[in-house]
Amino acid sequence: MSVLDIKIYKTAEPKVKPTVEEEASLGFGTTFSDHMFVMEYDSDKGWHDARIVPFGPIPFLPSAAVFHYGAEVFEGLKAYRTADGKVQLFRPEENAQRLYNSAERLCIPAVDPADFLEALNALMEVEKDWVPKSFGTSLYLRPFLFATDPALGLHTIHHAMFVIIASPSGSYYKEGINPVKIMIETQDVRAVRGGTGYAKCGGNYAAANRAGYKAEQKGYTQVLWLDGVHQKYIEEVGAMNVMFKIAGKIVTPDLIGTVLPGITRKSCIELLKEMGYEVEERRISVDEIVEALENGTLEEMWGTGTAAVVSPVGHLAYKDKEYCINNNEIGPVTQKLYDELTGIQWGKKEDTRNWIKTVK
Ligand SMILES: *Cc1c(COP(=O)(O)O)cnc(C)c1O
Repeated sequence: MSVLDIKIYKTAEPKVKPTVEEEASLGFGTTFSDHMFVMEYDSDKGWHDARIVPFGPIPFLPSAAVFHYGAEVFEGLKAYRTADGKVQLFRPEENAQRLYNSAERLCIPAVDPADFLEALNALMEVEKDWVPKSFGTSLYLRPFLFATDPALGLHTIHHAMFVIIASPSGSYYKEGINPVKIMIETQDVRAVRGGTGYAKCGGNYAAANRAGYKAEQKGYTQVLWLDGVHQKYIEEVGAMNVMFKIAGKIVTPDLIGTVLPGITRKSCIELLKEMGYEVEERRISVDEIVEALENGTLEEMWGTGTAAVVSPVGHLAYKDKEYCINNNEIGPVTQKLYDELTGIQWGKKEDTRNWIKTVK
């Protein structure tokens, strides 16, 4: 029996799904499937009214807390279709736990990880035909949770809503894997110890806008953040964790509360260790990176995240200098990680680590 008692109200007007020819050019996060999952919280009843309803607007009073004080956390994961038609998720229990941890940081009523997974699976059972078929395409799932208390006073949150929407998305690399250009941000900071850096919350992104726009104007894809205290240690890139291969060794910033604990990051570390690489999770100063760039020991750099899986970095700018990495080509370790992870996710490679959860 369902713990949440999810009611299903199907749309009377299903949309036309993209054809296989249209799938590749879907882009990201612009079209949505027919249904969404919704449930509400209040402190008297707990979580209640779990339902799957047609995708559409949700009315709120203009006084709802989320509009004023930004109490919102979210997740991002994908549903993949294998060549034999199965639909599968990649480590969804990690997303469930991370949403729980993010909610705890912002004092938003948390969703129990088991309920998160039940809601996700229920939505996937209804929407599985929306998972595109070509390799590289997926149904992007966006669970989000926010405070709805209809009053401007700042107090404990008593009302919240949890929603999951689904967006069929094209291949991230439809023109092949092109390395990105990254700029090290030297003015704004993203997170400080004790802050919300490790929580996946909308506010972190709002605070990152200014640096992001500045980088975009200068022709860079994203910024690489330095730590908020010394502006000296490497943290992460926009929406990706970051890894370097320096003189044969893999190094990546450790998780000290300011960096988002990426599930792709965690999976890459496990894979790299199995491949026999030495992986160091530690503080990495920007000076160490500049030195490695200048003496030629920085062999590869890449970002990790659900959207791009792994994204090679071809150019890195710091202050007035721009450095080219690995001739602006994807390096062998980056390529190996990409092949291994996408192989598992799209079912081309055997899942020997119990990372895959098949949707009924
Ligand atoms: C989501 C996110 C990541 C990547 O996490 P994955 O679980 O690998 O998708 C990295 N950094 C930030 C800031 C993020 O929001």
